[in-house]
Amino acid sequence: MEKSLNSSSMPEFKGNLRSKLPKAGTTIFSIMSGLANEVGAINLSQGFPGFPVSEKLIELYYVALKSGHNQYAPMQGIFTLRECIAEKMEELYSCNYNPETEITITAGGTQALYTAITAFVQEGDEVIVLEPSYDSYVPAILLAGGISVHVPLQPPNYSIPWDEVRKLVTQKTRMIIINTPQNPTGSLLTAKDMLHLEKLTDGTDIIVLSDEVYEHILFDGYEHQSVARFPKLAARSLLVFSFGKTFHATGWKVGYCLGPEQLMKEFRKVHQFTVFSVNTALQHALATFMLNKENYIGLPSFYQEKRDYFQKLLKGSKFKILPCLGSYFQLLDYSKISQEKDTDYAIRLTKEHGVASIPVSVFYSVPKDYHLLRFCFAKENDQLEKAAERLMKL
Ligand code: PMP
Repeated sequence: MEKSLNSSSMPEFKGNLRSKLPKAGTTIFSIMSGLANEVGAINLSQGFPGFPVSEKLIELYYVALKSGHNQYAPMQGIFTLRECIAEKMEELYSCNYNPETEITITAGGTQALYTAITAFVQEGDEVIVLEPSYDSYVPAILLAGGISVHVPLQPPNYSIPWDEVRKLVTQKTRMIIINTPQNPTGSLLTAKDMLHLEKLTDGTDIIVLSDEVYEHILFDGYEHQSVARFPKLAARSLLVFSFGKTFHATGWKVGYCLGPEQLMKEFRKVHQFTVFSVNTALQHALATFMLNKENYIGLPSFYQEKRDYFQKLLKGSKFKILPCLGSYFQLLDYSKISQEKDTDYAIRLTKEHGVASIPVSVFYSVPKDYHLLRFCFAKENDQLEKAAERLMKL
């Protein structure tokens, strides 16, 4: 007789388990998406684009597979792709990264972040994290034996209190992590912020890890202030990017990391024993696709239209719309509707009103509840319309 798929067949592990991440459970993203599927809600919780990948890019991938690009790529990534990235960085941010020694292709942004943290953070080192923040930073710091030191940022603008940050810098500070445009808040770091950071780290051994995966998603004419624009800062920084965000292909998990040779050498030592190398055929496809700048230059206006449309649909609702200058996330304040905890309200909103979001308190190490929910607006208009119709009724 066939065994039921649900029956557990492995004997239990009876040994003493010492979890390296005792507090980590299922992520809120999986929980909210699971709940959205279960109750048939519109899922604006997880941050993935609801648009198809370009047919041209899929074709290029197919051609690369058919042409035999199916064995290991070089550890650092194929040269033509690294060369395209170097050219793009020079054109957009007037900086020079050597494709031979200063650029590495990674299995997405998350791997690049993990590898950078693992390469530089040692037992007892402190890492400054501005919160709310993307959820992979702190576990990676803990796995490296480091200590995360948190700087809470306040809504609605989430500006960085540099005097507070300065007070937290000690002899043990090894790294500062920044993220612009920022997930989950949609805020940006300005040129002034970068100069503050430059001054703060001047004369120290601190490494800056700059998460710039949303580099092409900025609105209202703002320009992306990449760390790469600031040579003194760039000299101590590793920058992380993701093709998933730029080409609506988060499932493909390809990204890259940039940094000066001395830092990149250490990064690659860890990279080669983590993934060694990244999907070869995809790298070939991306290298050809990137040659046409139209494939990413239009992103700000594409997403600005989405943001404006979502905000317009919500005009007159009881939700307060927070500023969103970049990324594809909109924060909404529900305090005029309910005083429930944001984690409870997000679940109730999904179950009873059919719209899934992410409660912002989960992006803090010590949860701070400002009654805010994060909605991803990288979705087709009909999805945004249906979601807004439901939210307007509250
Ligand atoms: N950084 C931030 C701020 C993100 O939002 C994400 C994706 N959600 C990543 C990094 C990871 O990118 P990838 O999917 O390429 O691993």
